[in-house]
Amino acid sequence: MRILVCNDDGIAARGLRALVEVAQEFGEVSVVAPDRPQSGMGHAISIGVPLRLYPSSIFGADVPAWACSGTPADCVKLATGVLKIRPDLLLSGINHGANFSISVFYSGTLSAAIEGAFEGIPSIGFSLLDYSMEADFGAAQAIVREVILLYLADPFPSDVPLNVNIPNLPLSEIKGLRLTRQARGRFVEQFEQRIDPYGQSYYWMVGRFESQDPDSDTDLWALERGYVSICPLLTDLTNHPYLHHWKVIHR
Ligand code: MN
Repeated sequence: MRILVCNDDGIAARGLRALVEVAQEFGEVSVVAPDRPQSGMGHAISIGVPLRLYPSSIFGADVPAWACSGTPADCVKLATGVLKIRPDLLLSGINHGANFSISVFYSGTLSAAIEGAFEGIPSIGFSLLDYSMEADFGAAQAIVREVILLYLADPFPSDVPLNVNIPNLPLSEIKGLRLTRQARGRFVEQFEQRIDPYGQSYYWMVGRFESQDPDSDTDLWALERGYVSICPLLTDLTNHPYLHHWKVIHR
């Protein structure tokens, strides 16, 4: 099996290395990852600027790898379009930090998986609920292995990328895996204002997630209780029931 591994935290991120290590147990691994952190880039692509690919030996001779100057979505496009990598499976992550609920819209980790789905590649994004660059990915690696085994035994259609979030707990305290839907909620942003050495204001965006969804079938519910959340995603944002909302429109 050929496996393409991407991420949004950059080619040097420890979460990417953790994912590569597990992926190698399942097949031939190639890596195309951003050359710098690209978290929060969503599904951005680079238009009107040059894209560069730098071969990298960071994962050793057995794992061909490239650092890409673009976004996570660019990485997938260049992997298939320029490097002609035709993976049987695309894995993105392991992200340093959560990607539940509406985070899907902001996440570079998931944009790589969604881009894979656009290209007909079975794709899974993994995130660990620990933002630290020094996070411990030991338990997460065991969960990734378990999810890949489940996936290979009973795959989802290639246009259904999976969003897997892993609680930041020792493996013995993780209660199990749950298929979930995105919790309804929003980020409540706050902006810390500071002054730079030239006297100009600048801002740090800090926010917290506010749930508007008490139900027990959501990603947030599962994660808060120590379960791994596996959310199958749509790549179609059409709100189908509303296609008939304006009855005055006739053909
Ligand atoms: Mn990230």
